[in-house]
Amino acid sequence: MPPAGSLNYEQYAGRACFACGKQLTVGAVSCGLAVGRQGAHKLDVEVWACP
Ligand SMILES: [Zn+2]
Repeated sequence: MPPAGSLNYEQYAGRACFACGKQLTVGAVSCGLAVGRQGAHKLDVEVWACP
C-alpha cells in the first residue's frame, strides 16, 4: 500500500486506480487504507483499484 502522501488528487479522491492511475468507472475494488500524516492531520484514505 502506498503512503497517502504519494497519491495524486484523483487517486486520493477515489476516482483513479491507486496502482496504475487509470480512471475508475465500474467495478472498482476497495484495497484498504493508505495511511499518511501531515503535521497534526491524518491523511488516511481508502484506496481503490481497477478490477
Ligand atoms: Zn489499475
